[in-house]
Amino acid sequence: MVDEYEELVIELDLDNEFAASNLGWLLTVRVLVSLSPPVQGWDRYGTSYSTLSEPGHSRAQAERLRVVSARDELLPQELGTVSHRVHKEHLAASTISGEASRALCGVFFVPMQDHAGLEECAECAALLGHLPQ
Ligand SMILES: [Zn+2]
Repeated sequence: MVDEYEELVIELDLDNEFAASNLGWLLTVRVLVSLSPPVQGWDRYGTSYSTLSEPGHSRAQAERLRVVSARDELLPQELGTVSHRVHKEHLAASTISGEASRALCGVFFVPMQDHAGLEECAECAALLGHLPQ
């Protein structure tokens, strides 16, 4: 088996105030979802976002985008598949405001779904075990 993958790295050059606004975050999420869903699959470092996918993903995603944009439609948001650990206060605030929260494992995401029934993020669970009670 060969471990091949495609790495997609984008730099969002947005005005800081706009980037921190809800509209700025919605734009960011829309860009990430359009390039490679789900949003939770992206890592963030400052204004850079990166994700790994299977070979051929970008070509297939470009075709999906061509089809939906020809119909003047948007791609559906694909939500995350795991439940991350986030500070309770941050989660409550960002669920209300729609802003992104940073999970223990470093993933940024906008809480938009009920996490009950989702598999727990293994990296978050491991890091939680190292925190003082
Ligand atoms: Zn996590």
